[in-house]
Amino acid sequence: MTFKELGVIEPILKALSNEGYTHPTPIQAKSLPILLRNKDLLGCAQTGTGKTAAFAIPILQQIYKNNQHKGTRKIKALVVTPTRELAIQIGESFTTYGQYTGLRNTVIFGGVKQGKQTNALRGGVDILVATPGRLLDLMNQGYISLRDIEYAVLDEADQMLDMGFIHDIRKIIAKLPKDRQSLFFSATMPKAIVELSRKILGDFEKVTIAPEKATADKVEQALYYVSKKDKINLLTLLLKEQPTKSVLIFSRTKHGANKIVKLLSKAEITSEAIHGNKSQTARQKALGKFKNGQLKVLVATDIAARGIDVEELSLVINYDLPNVPETYVHRIGRTGRAAASGIALSFCCIDERPYLKDIQKLINQQIPVINEHPYVPAPNEEVRTPKKTQRSSSRPGKSRKNKNGNRSRNKRSSNFKKGRD
Ligand code: AMP
Repeated sequence: MTFKELGVIEPILKALSNEGYTHPTPIQAKSLPILLRNKDLLGCAQTGTGKTAAFAIPILQQIYKNNQHKGTRKIKALVVTPTRELAIQIGESFTTYGQYTGLRNTVIFGGVKQGKQTNALRGGVDILVATPGRLLDLMNQGYISLRDIEYAVLDEADQMLDMGFIHDIRKIIAKLPKDRQSLFFSATMPKAIVELSRKILGDFEKVTIAPEKATADKVEQALYYVSKKDKINLLTLLLKEQPTKSVLIFSRTKHGANKIVKLLSKAEITSEAIHGNKSQTARQKALGKFKNGQLKVLVATDIAARGIDVEELSLVINYDLPNVPETYVHRIGRTGRAAASGIALSFCCIDERPYLKDIQKLINQQIPVINEHPYVPAPNEEVRTPKKTQRSSSRPGKSRKNKNGNRSRNKRSSNFKKGRD
């Protein structure tokens, strides 16, 4: 199956061919026919599957074919996505795939002054990519009207809910015209997501790209059992073994990410961190250097890293295992994107064993263990069963007593939820 056979029009085919896309990815092959028939779509897929093109191509094509790019520009397509990085990347994709269509897009997100964004809006755009908070803000200020929207995309819906955007999303949906095509993407489909999708979608078709496929097919995975204190030594060793590779390291917390950068610099390894406490400019700068190969080692928290799309990213290291198993799939999806193959290495200390169990259950496979490395935990440490109090505190969502004797949610879980970038 080719893009031409799927009915993609010439100006877009030309752009895809410039990008070197010879064949549609499975989500593109499945979604394009549905979307070009103007049907609503529920897409169960993660980033890395080619889902941006799966929605960008039909939107560009329909606006172009309906001659809607002529005359005064009104916002006809809206894409709402959780993070700034993802928004910027989606905007870049629309620009790339739409370069011969004459259609214009712009991207709006919080954390920066609004002047540039409102100027771009005043100039007129056909497609708007936005994070929820800034979108509502500019709608309330009268810079944006959703009156003419014909195509609405909700991207990474599960992540948006995790980040606490549900009320914003509801307000946005309420302002959309009834007569529209709606697209809803989520990597996971818990009950709350299914309910939300019902509020947006009309008569829809569902496309599922199983996460197991994304992980098992292309990404080579390996696991290192290592104590918490030796993780930095093992990381240093692995990075020194592969000095030329672009490596993305995942840290569960912002503080942890900063600490890794500091410790690596002691070992004379240059790295930078991106997370929600860094300014937008600093994040973009670090990401830019990482993408063009100037920076080899990037340390990121999950939310900051969502959607990071770096060609040639061959190695992902999970310095900490995530407590939400789907996050593991997202993380390792940073490597082995589209046609490339990649490697994902994970460190697991004794407290993280329950997370490992959940991850292996989700991906339906045992991650091969590397037993030969200098930091294999001592046998007594390996067999040591965590004390009762320790075990309960390391379980996701469990509460524990803090220094003052008050109950607090487990640190891992609350950090994940709190990390709204
Ligand atoms: P996404 O899931 O949209 O973030 O896309 C993941 C990566 O796949 C991006 O680097 C895209 O440029 C790339 N990509 C998307 N569609 C194709 C295709 N049909 N052939 C090759 N690469 C693609």
